[in-house]
Amino acid sequence: MPSEYDIVIVGAGLIGSALGLHLAHKSDLRIAIIERSSQLKSNPVPNQRVVALGATATDVLSNVGVLDELGPEFCHPYTHMHVWDENSRGELDFDALDTEHPQLGHMIDSNQCTLLLQKQAADSAKLDCFFDCAPHALELFDDHAVLNTEGDGPSDIVAKLLVAADGAGSWVRQQVKIFSNHRDYGQLGIVARIKTEESHQDCAWQRFLRTGPIGVLPLAGNQSSIVWSADKPLADQLMELSDEEFSTTLEEALEGRLGGVELLTARRAFPLRSQRAERYYARNTVLIGDAAHSIHPLAGQGANLGFKDVVCLSELLQAVDSDSIGRPSVLARYQRKRQADNEQTDAMMSALYTAYRSNSAAWSLMRGTGMNWLSQSDSLRRLFVEQAIGL
Ligand SMILES: Cc1cc2nc3c(=O)[nH]c(=O)nc-3n(C[C@H](O)[C@H](O)[C@H](O)COP(=O)(O)OP(=O)(O)OC[C@H]3O[C@@H](n4cnc5c(N)ncnc54)[C@H](O)[C@@H]3O)c2cc1C
Repeated sequence: MPSEYDIVIVGAGLIGSALGLHLAHKSDLRIAIIERSSQLKSNPVPNQRVVALGATATDVLSNVGVLDELGPEFCHPYTHMHVWDENSRGELDFDALDTEHPQLGHMIDSNQCTLLLQKQAADSAKLDCFFDCAPHALELFDDHAVLNTEGDGPSDIVAKLLVAADGAGSWVRQQVKIFSNHRDYGQLGIVARIKTEESHQDCAWQRFLRTGPIGVLPLAGNQSSIVWSADKPLADQLMELSDEEFSTTLEEALEGRLGGVELLTARRAFPLRSQRAERYYARNTVLIGDAAHSIHPLAGQGANLGFKDVVCLSELLQAVDSDSIGRPSVLARYQRKRQADNEQTDAMMSALYTAYRSNSAAWSLMRGTGMNWLSQSDSLRRLFVEQAIGL
């Protein structure tokens, strides 16, 4: 006999596990999550990768009981943002005082956050979670989907609604033949944890270099996590430097604003690509998070958009009876609400990426003038801050 659920979520990353828990807290729907990898285990070594999450994302994490569990080592509030440009005199400051919030957002260890979400999901009596379980065939019918899986878990699963939360290379998206547009930036994002001589002052520092932006994301105890985006040849060279050489190069790239830099972890490099699914649903299957959209991390928005998908889909599903959750009319509403916002943010990231790459005198002047102008306009700055803090 197949296992029957209202909703099956494929992928227990940040976004899939958050949706499962959010819905389990707010509804009586029968939910399963299937994840092809093993459940994450705690690692005493800190992770290099941190995500800057705004209010929507942290509200979800708080509702499902994960935010408080993270603790100061894995979750650090930041109250300022300082942006400057290698090629112009433009400088830009954002402050939590421009908002009604005590902070602009939180820097959260993405591994630890996913681990806690997975643990909550695995321990919850309100949903089933299958790890080491990968789908290998999918059939869609008018009012349900049938998924065949291999590994640990039921081999046949029937669901009224199938949610693809299986990341940028989504297997589900390919099965339901939703086309997706890809852009390869030809860059790598190098991430690592560092300690700086000077205090980061709970400020997220971002410098736009000709070769790509460096973000320094503040953590507890004068530690920070960096995301250094650079064209592949340069990124390869940076990856080959010794720890000491890399630290000195980073200190220089930051103009010494945070003093000496000590590298605390190994470096990891991620290829930077963006991807937009042409549509967000096909029959009774819907895409969320990176399965629907992934963007350049220069303003730290990818997961924030995914959490907005979670809230939107969750609210729509709670508002209809359980027999309607897989109806195209419901899923079309989700697409209408989320696709434009996600695509606008992607377009903004692409425009920023292009604007900061140009070294021509005219572009440098425009950038510098634009940044200083923005810095002086309270209303425009507030608009940017609202976008940055995920409102
Ligand atoms: C360098 C870098 C820095 C970033 N910084 C930020 C930031 O500061 N702020 C921010 O908001 N975002 C940031 N992002 C983006 C953010 O990391 C992603 O948007 C987010 O992690 C996407 O989560 P997801 O759950 O949708 O996908 P994923 O994290 O890719 O999770 C997908 C899950 O599905 C599982 N899976 C895949 N295929 C299958 C299958 N066939 N069957 C079952 N399971 C499957 C995978 O094992 C995984 O667990 C950054 C990204 C990069 C690369």
